[in-house]
Amino acid sequence: MSKILKTDAEWRRELDPERYRVLREKGTEPPFSGEYDHTFEPGTYRCAGCGAELFSSDAKYDSGCGWPAFSAPASGEALEEEVDRSYGMVRTEVMCAACGGHLGHVFPDGPAPTGLRYCINSLALELEEE
Ligand code: FE
Repeated sequence: MSKILKTDAEWRRELDPERYRVLREKGTEPPFSGEYDHTFEPGTYRCAGCGAELFSSDAKYDSGCGWPAFSAPASGEALEEEVDRSYGMVRTEVMCAACGGHLGHVFPDGPAPTGLRYCINSLALELEEE
């Protein structure tokens, strides 16, 4: 359950339009366009909506898919998942557990040991460099 509850008007006011579209309207940034697609600086990736810690740079890898990819979340409580049947596909949507913001999707084609690829919009993230 989301711990941060804000009205749509509040999110609209706080987020720039691109971030609002991804986080609150489940938008997707164009592939290979995102700020963090090819960023590999050490640090912590936080939710661009609420600041919650979502991913560590340690789990980031170059999947070649066009979006930042991580093999694991920062913790077991950081994310929430939901089945997404939009666009004629069955995918697993990933959301920030703290604010419910849409982040991206998780796919079962990642590297060992998790075998997972968290495919996340750069616009949903804010890197806090070490
Ligand atoms: Fe959040």
